[in-house]
Amino acid sequence: MSTDHGSTTGTDHRSPAGTDHTAALRSVRAWVLDVDGCLMRTARPGGAGGTPMPRAGDLVAALRRAGHAVVICTNASQRPPAEYAAHLREQGIDVPDEDFVTAGSAAADHVAAHHPGARVLPVGDVGLAGPLAARGVEIATPGGPLADVVVVGAASEYRTEVINAACLAVDAGAALYTTVDTPWFHGGVGRSVTVSATIAHAIGWAAATSPQVLGKPSAFLAETLLRRLPGPPGRVAVVGDASAEIRLARAMGAVSTLVLSGAITPEKLAPLRGADRPDVVLDDVAALYDLLSESLPMTQGAPS
Ligand SMILES: [Mg+2]
Repeated sequence: MSTDHGSTTGTDHRSPAGTDHTAALRSVRAWVLDVDGCLMRTARPGGAGGTPMPRAGDLVAALRRAGHAVVICTNASQRPPAEYAAHLREQGIDVPDEDFVTAGSAAADHVAAHHPGARVLPVGDVGLAGPLAARGVEIATPGGPLADVVVVGAASEYRTEVINAACLAVDAGAALYTTVDTPWFHGGVGRSVTVSATIAHAIGWAAATSPQVLGKPSAFLAETLLRRLPGPPGRVAVVGDASAEIRLARAMGAVSTLVLSGAITPEKLAPLRGADRPDVVLDDVAALYDLLSESLPMTQGAPS
């Protein structure tokens, strides 16, 4: 179908091969929704300080009312998931704490599962250290025994002694992880450098290695999300504004849906080919709401 659902740019929803994937989108029953540049327009990660995109609250409410599974997934990691979720609720996007996944909580899940008993040095803020501690992970401190694992997340400030401890540990063989691995952040207002990724790569540089990403679009996060979402991957959609969500969808085997309200502009989309190109392109979540309103009981109280 090629109808322009609320489009302001005349976006073609079809892939380069001419396949219409909007039909696949209508059969989706589980959703992974990005925050910055997708549900929220913001200059800071996790929707902090931002305002909702048009229809963002309506979309989430309608999907949940229709009985669909909805996970809100952000690469933000500075604050705990519950804090970001509370802010979204204040903005009219009704998401329970347990359905909000951050790159910090995803990293803590990975470390707890794959490094049992390890001493872990978080280089970040409470949004990383909190989920690690909540999973019973031993936290390393600078000046103490070297960490077995170093994880870098977002923070307003980074302390020299923590970065030094991280470099010493990684140089001695500790695993090095980063919550996010994209150089630039874009939440629909303007871009800024992703300081956490920059710090992670700096630590890797000092120790002659590279950090492994645990947030979007990591295979680990893809597996974690697929485990908690019902149905086959073909009935899952990942919606976001950046290549991280396109690549996460590929890792999941899900329907990738790009909204042009953040990082990727029509000019940046044009050269994308093959797996880099999203299955469905829409102007924003309002266009997604319009598209789904034809096939869902969007204004009804009862699940379909
Ligand atoms: Mg985004």
